[in-house]
Amino acid sequence: MESIRKRAKELLDSKQVQVIIGYENGTSNKVRASFIKDSAQVDKLIYDERCTQNLALYLVKHEVKHLGKMGIVATIPAMRTINMLISEEQVKPENIVVLGIGEDGKLLDFPDLTVMESFLQKANIELTAKDKEAIEKLKKMTTQEKFDYWSNALETCFKCYACRSACPLCYCTRCAVECNQPQWIPVQASKNGNYEWHMLRAMHLSGRCVSCGDCGRACPLDIPVHLLTMHMAEESKRLFGVDSGLSMKMESVLSNYKLDDKDNFIL
Ligand code: SF4
Ligand code: SF4
Repeated sequence: MESIRKRAKELLDSKQVQVIIGYENGTSNKVRASFIKDSAQVDKLIYDERCTQNLALYLVKHEVKHLGKMGIVATIPAMRTINMLISEEQVKPENIVVLGIGEDGKLLDFPDLTVMESFLQKANIELTAKDKEAIEKLKKMTTQEKFDYWSNALETCFKCYACRSACPLCYCTRCAVECNQPQWIPVQASKNGNYEWHMLRAMHLSGRCVSCGDCGRACPLDIPVHLLTMHMAEESKRLFGVDSGLSMKMESVLSNYKLDDKDNFIL
């Protein structure tokens, strides 16, 4: 924690960044995002096991971007998100300084983002045991069992879109689910409409989801929507060899093709 505060102070005092995005204590023993612009405030910054939110979510927000160059406290999923956002030209690498957090919770020194890239290529990006177990359980189900499981889970969704808001890679300012000319997906919560919304979300995140789990944590009904996108991430790796966010030059799985693609997934 002290090393994060010290580095944040150095970056702000030397005007290398204009804002530090980190974690601070919130209410009810919860942590929240913190936006520090003045080095006199760096003591607010904390880091402990409660700091799971993927703060890269804020890198694309207009209100934060316009403050200037951003320093960000980034866990491994957040570092992967930064690479994805650079690949997708949502942020410029020269506008970001990363205060990386390693698996042991210690601050990592990244003089530039290429060092972060090299770190990620060797880092452990495995899912948590709990998520792995849940996905394995789903994979063992028959098609009918999977259909029943997801029909039941998604039926209660009331389309609050908290899962979408929590996802750092769901950054479109106008989402297809809100278009009414043409209306691709029913606006109201309904059985088929809910299915369509979640299929659309999972497909749009295929090869892009960095498995941070924030979408599932954000759902007020505890619908495990993160398992859908995490499973698609596994499939992108299995079928196309793509591990999202390990490089600043990711190819998009769904909008690229290779002449020697086997295409056997279509058959
Ligand atoms: S889909 Fe969910 S798990 Fe994947 S990057 Fe977005 S918030 Fe994280
Ligand atoms: S957060 Fe939960 S209830 Fe809200 S849209 Fe997402 S899945 Fe549905």
